[in-house]
Amino acid sequence: MSARPIHPASPELLAAWRADPAAGDAEFMARLLAAPASGLQDCLREQQRATVLDLHFGAGLAFLSTWRHFDRMRTEGGAQRLHYVAIQPHPCTPEHLVQWHADWPDLSGHARQLRDVWPLLLPGTHRLLLDDGRVTLTLIFGAFDEELARLEAPVDLFYLHGRQPDFDADTSDWNPHACKRLARLAWTGARALVFDGAPTAPAMRQVGFAGEALDGALALRYAPAWGRPPSHVAAADAPLRRAPRHARHALVIGAGLAGTAAAERLAARGWRIDLIDAGPDVATRASGNHGGLFMPALARDDSPLARLTRAAFLFAAQRLQALGGVGTGEGAAIAGEICGILQFGRDAKQALSFEQGAEEWNYPQRYARWMGAEETAAQLGMPTMGGGYFFPEAGWLNPPSVCRRLLAAARERSDVVTHFGRAVARLRREDERWQALDGEGQLIAAAPVVVLAAGTQARALAQSAGLPLNAVRGQVTHLPADGFPAVPFALCGDGYLTRPYAGRICMGASYDRDDDPALRAASHAENLGRLQHMLPDIGARYSLPAADDAELQGRVGFRCIAPDRLPLAGALPDLGAASGATRLDTVPRHPGLYGLLGYASRGLIWAPLMAELLAATLEREPLPLPRDLLAAVDPARFVLKGTEGAYPVAD
Ligand SMILES: Cc1cc2nc3c(=O)[nH]c(=O)nc-3n(C[C@H](O)[C@H](O)[C@H](O)COP(=O)(O)OP(=O)(O)OC[C@H]3O[C@@H](n4cnc5c(N)ncnc54)[C@H](O)[C@@H]3O)c2cc1C
Repeated sequence: MSARPIHPASPELLAAWRADPAAGDAEFMARLLAAPASGLQDCLREQQRATVLDLHFGAGLAFLSTWRHFDRMRTEGGAQRLHYVAIQPHPCTPEHLVQWHADWPDLSGHARQLRDVWPLLLPGTHRLLLDDGRVTLTLIFGAFDEELARLEAPVDLFYLHGRQPDFDADTSDWNPHACKRLARLAWTGARALVFDGAPTAPAMRQVGFAGEALDGALALRYAPAWGRPPSHVAAADAPLRRAPRHARHALVIGAGLAGTAAAERLAARGWRIDLIDAGPDVATRASGNHGGLFMPALARDDSPLARLTRAAFLFAAQRLQALGGVGTGEGAAIAGEICGILQFGRDAKQALSFEQGAEEWNYPQRYARWMGAEETAAQLGMPTMGGGYFFPEAGWLNPPSVCRRLLAAARERSDVVTHFGRAVARLRREDERWQALDGEGQLIAAAPVVVLAAGTQARALAQSAGLPLNAVRGQVTHLPADGFPAVPFALCGDGYLTRPYAGRICMGASYDRDDDPALRAASHAENLGRLQHMLPDIGARYSLPAADDAELQGRVGFRCIAPDRLPLAGALPDLGAASGATRLDTVPRHPGLYGLLGYASRGLIWAPLMAELLAATLEREPLPLPRDLLAAVDPARFVLKGTEGAYPVAD
């Protein structure tokens, strides 16, 4: 799969959209959608949660009209949630949207909200929550054919254009092969509104869509006269059945970043939560650090890690804002700073690769840019180890404050019972419910669904004991902020440095293969060495403590790391029954048992997106990642035949 930067809509494409009523005329669109035969009214009336896939998004006029219909029908007892998915090879810039939307004052309120969340023009899936989460816009910037093939979204209503290749030269015609990709996503009974649709009719009929002509469009319905293959996203369900996979009640085991984010995303969908943690409060283990960095990773080949961290970082940034924002003042919802992060190249080779990558990818300046050695020194007011990537909208956060805010937000939305100071010793399934039992066999709580977010300690439970998760010790050193030279942003290279907060600067972190929970001088020495490597002159400007200074503070934690360093998010494999499986969809899973594990050194960005992914999976919503990245985080990826021995479990 080719990785490439996103190019915004060209003047020619904008002109073609403007000339096309389906993209350029909001009145045409409103009229069409108001017609009963369009299917929108029925769809919003029949479903509690309606999903539209729009492959002709343009400046979003159909989206805005659909949202207005949804608003009206929601108050009349229709669908309570709208999922809107769109694929755009060449999206509008914010400036295009402003110009375009100005022509349609009736839509201005919704249009402003759309522009407020409009993402940076970066490839991949952008999950955007609007109207307090009632409307979810999943905007995918990438090639049509490729993204359609890897989309995971059961769809009620399609908006298509019969002359799609006129708007994107790289798109194939609506031949039966392309139409099959739509059938794969359609609920039985789904509708399709095809603008200028005559050219598509034969191919659509071949794959099971049939219907009638409307003014300017074809209105089709998916009603295949044959059985559907299991590869279809919505195939396993009876026609139009929309129940969530389980009753909406979950035990969440672990109240760190993973568990509190899961509680928040599920509670936002009306789930009852029992949140269980062995500790006395949230964030007592890995998530208890004073400060951690919050940033994406870049790669010139746009590797799965780069794509995943991009989606996760952008979603986390959006959620932080929605949760009340980040700051260091007393009233801040979340403690931290979006102050920017400079990531030094580890050595000359990596620095050169960063510089070339920045040129090739031409990232939006708000996402990342190359900062040469001279500029890093000028910005920091002292010599540095060299140049690096600068991420202006990254920063540092205090993880416990993130967990507290997530738990508070979950409580605002649903019924959340906390069980602090209770360690789950055993999980038992009885009568389609999981029981969490303590060491004495006493029941802590029971529910149809368990979300295991227990970090490294997940290995102590029988169902997850065989997962290849390793505990990696990390020690952070806390430097007194007094007298430390003012650095305008956080730093990372082979270590990291936050800005001051509550009198301390965090510097880390060691990477050790032992389980010693005590602070030790050797780890402080490593951290001080990392600092001097990043800022070679720091010793002349700040009185660095000795590594064995008994007063020197810090914290030890244990990262939970999978062999490929990617998270585990989804249904947990039944390891006893799984041997020999060759495909993820054939791996036997524990019913109702899900994991959010292996957040390694990136819990601050993984937690919100992985929680959203899990909640969307449980609710049968469009998923916020494409198929190949879902496979990359599937907890069952390690049990596939051929991977034996590749992922040893540490002892
Ligand atoms: C030194 C260090 C530096 C780091 N720096 C960064 C950074 O800069 N940026 C970043 O994004 N990430 C960083 N991380 C990683 C980040 O801290 C983790 O990814 C994140 O905290 C993991 O969250 P979690 O909820 O999965 O695990 P945890 O926070 O460990 O939470 C698991 C919870 O489960 C509970 N639990 C476990 N078993 C049971 C049971 N049987 N019954 C009841 N409760 C149970 C535990 O008590 C615990 O509270 C760092 C980690 C370390 C150690």
